[in-house]
Amino acid sequence: MFRFNLSSRAIAIIIALLVGVVLTAYAWAAPTLPFQQAVLAGGVTIAGCFLLVYLAFEALMFREINNIYAGLEHIKRKEFRRLSNKFLFRPEPLKRMREEIIDMATRKQREIDELRRLQQLRSDFLADVSHELKTPIFAAQGFVHTVLDAGEDEAFIREKFLLKAATALDALDALVQDLVTISQLEKGVVRMRRQVFDLALLVREIFEQLELKAAKRHVTLALLPAVLPASGVRVLADRNRIRQVLINLIDNALKYGREHGHVTVTLQETSKSVRVAVYDDGEGIPEEHQHRIFERFYRIDKSRSRESGGSGLGLAISKHIVEAHKSTIRVRSAAGQGTTLDFKLPKPRLPLSD
Ligand code: ADP
Repeated sequence: MFRFNLSSRAIAIIIALLVGVVLTAYAWAAPTLPFQQAVLAGGVTIAGCFLLVYLAFEALMFREINNIYAGLEHIKRKEFRRLSNKFLFRPEPLKRMREEIIDMATRKQREIDELRRLQQLRSDFLADVSHELKTPIFAAQGFVHTVLDAGEDEAFIREKFLLKAATALDALDALVQDLVTISQLEKGVVRMRRQVFDLALLVREIFEQLELKAAKRHVTLALLPAVLPASGVRVLADRNRIRQVLINLIDNALKYGREHGHVTVTLQETSKSVRVAVYDDGEGIPEEHQHRIFERFYRIDKSRSRESGGSGLGLAISKHIVEAHKSTIRVRSAAGQGTTLDFKLPKPRLPLSD
């Protein structure tokens, strides 16, 4: 490979010295020229050669290189990267240019790799979405056709299958709504509307909403500590979004927890924040699945989760919401020992007057 690490000045000096030495030796060796004049002629030759070669290099070759470099700088400027305009007439321009090109190529390669990764994620997501949509659509389609095929006198069958079709369409509606929510959260277009509210009151409201579901599985819902401050447990957060997170977590605890079991929500206050933990005494989440349950559509037991009507997006949405509150959602679980999911919310800074 062509390697060239000398500056134009160094090359000019080397060439000038070579020419000068040869000419001086020749002039001295000739009988007509005295030694002093030969040295003088040599000096003048070296100086002249140096200037000629140096300027020729600068003017021709490095002007072109500088043009290429200016082009590179222009591209870099477009990328808002750190610039150095000190390239002109600096030593070792070729070496510097090679480094620049390698650096730029490495950066571009990194960008290409990232784009490829995003492209892969996008196509995986599309495949997942179409797969998830297929299930309720096919179910509803099948039920509607059964109703259409039912005879005049089969009112009972018609009603039964219309109900099933309605349930499948409800699941489809929930899935589409969750898809809209997650895509908005991922795009970052959702703003959290922070307000001060009583977290204990919110948990009690959700318990009421899920009472029937809990009763069906004979699960007891409890809020701890049993005695809470009269002023409530105040936090500064987006009430509706936190409601969505808590519904997801408590609903999961009911779905995947033990029948005849217990689901407990604990609110633990510190000076600056409140830790919310949702615990169930179900069969737990094996270690190898724990870091994956927050991924879109990730389910441990595919058939069981789908049967229970979840969109597979609940925890992915919850994670986004909790992170938008500058907190992290954690899972603590061991097979056979129940599951706890928890996160922190900030308390309001100023005590409220009411
Ligand atoms: P889904 O709609 O399937 O419930 P989620 O995102 O809410 O989707 O949960 C993802 C997966 O994590 C569930 O399918 C389930 O396998 C697992 N999971 C969530 N919560 C619990 C829990 N409390 N106990 C056991 N497994 C759980």
